[in-house]
Amino acid sequence: MSYVEQVLENLKKTNPNEPEFHQAATEILTSLAPVVDKHPEFQNAALLERFVEPERVVMFRVPWVDDNGKVHVNKGYRVQFNSAIGPYKGGLRFHPSVNLSIIKFLGLEQILKNSLTGLPIGGGKGGSDFDPKGKSDREVMAFCQSFMTELYRHIGADTDVPAGDIGVGGREIGFLFGQYKRIRDEHVGVLTGRGLSYGGSLARTEATGYGLVYITEEALKMRGDSFNGKTVVISGSGNVAIYACQKAQSLGANVVAMYDSNGYVYDPNGIQLDVVKDIKEVKRGRIKEYAERVKGAKYVEGCKGIWTIPCDIALPCATQNEIDEESAKILVKNGVKYVGEGANMPSTLAAIEVFLKAGVVFLPAKAANAGGVATSALEMAQSSGRMFWSFEEVDAKLKNIMVNIYHNMDDAAKEYGYEGNYVMGANIAGFMKVANAMMAHGIV
Ligand code: NDP
Repeated sequence: MSYVEQVLENLKKTNPNEPEFHQAATEILTSLAPVVDKHPEFQNAALLERFVEPERVVMFRVPWVDDNGKVHVNKGYRVQFNSAIGPYKGGLRFHPSVNLSIIKFLGLEQILKNSLTGLPIGGGKGGSDFDPKGKSDREVMAFCQSFMTELYRHIGADTDVPAGDIGVGGREIGFLFGQYKRIRDEHVGVLTGRGLSYGGSLARTEATGYGLVYITEEALKMRGDSFNGKTVVISGSGNVAIYACQKAQSLGANVVAMYDSNGYVYDPNGIQLDVVKDIKEVKRGRIKEYAERVKGAKYVEGCKGIWTIPCDIALPCATQNEIDEESAKILVKNGVKYVGEGANMPSTLAAIEVFLKAGVVFLPAKAANAGGVATSALEMAQSSGRMFWSFEEVDAKLKNIMVNIYHNMDDAAKEYGYEGNYVMGANIAGFMKVANAMMAHGIV
């Protein structure tokens, strides 16, 4: 049995019932096989065993009271996975599906993603099974205050800097920051994605979606092509999806479909993003309303059908495992040429196989959606320097980071003999920096 197989087998045995964590670890470790073959010193130092074991896992009770006076209890999590190259950094997810397996898969991915940005940030992730959907602002505030009343003791501007993720946007970050500041009496960069009036960075809201389009644009450019005139399907209609749509449209793409967790809208004339923003950002409503407001658009209940719409470029921007093998085959049959992952792990392992075999340019999440965390690190730099950069300045840095990520993973894939395989390239490029730092730190 190879070293990688041994580590994976032990991981599954000692972390049972964590399928998403197994899936992410399998994808990552499998692609690191050529690296550990080349570096036997890594096995001697049990580097992979240490890499897949979080430095610290915090799980806690979050009690809160709803508008009718009823008491609820949710589970809170923070996984501080790896701080070899910098303070833990990664979002908080509030969604009923959240459990330890999901937070660990996200945390493991985050280590390599953060490394790929080239910035000094380690990997972490957290969240709760709380569902902000349908809750009043007061209920969300009560929950966030209770969540932070425990979390504050584990985080800090130089220790662990959480941000948003699914279900955690500007409103939630505001409530969380307010409670941290109240308890600690410190106005510091302990959370990113903050509002502009209290230390946030311009372009952070747009960063993940824009970054996804910038890296896809670079992949297109290297093949003598561009977004102009391309048909694009984007899943989700949240933060990442909305700004991916905006940037793709500004580059001349025709975005024809988006969804939320109930169903998708197809608009062959091109999605009207102002309508989507009004429904999702202002009214916190359902995407179904789009078809009631826009002539020529249709709504279909259920999400999966979105991948049957023919497109040149698919940008999954909602959640994990939204593209399975069957959907991947349909996308390929319909001529998809590029898949850029805005969400974390939106493609199953079998779906990735299908894309790679068909020669689709596949840009994996840890590279393609790294623009969000990269801009969070720029927010941290502005906070600690008590500075404020213009939108153009942050956007230019973001674009530069995404272009660099593309070339770093492209180079790493070539170096190890897997040209064009960016799953290999991103994992190897991200891992090497973390591995070198861990080796330098000794057995810790
Ligand atoms: P949001 O909460 O803003 O939006 C999530 C979107 O995905 C919503 O449209 C939501 O639908 C939909 N969705 C969520 N769960 C499901 C599901 N199980 N099935 C179908 N649709 C679903 O989150 P973000 O846009 O911030 O995050 C989207 C993805 O991008 C996540 O995978 C996240 O980890 C990843 N990501 C986000 C970053 C960021 O900066 N925000 C950075 C890097 C990665 P509904 O409205 O019905 O809930």
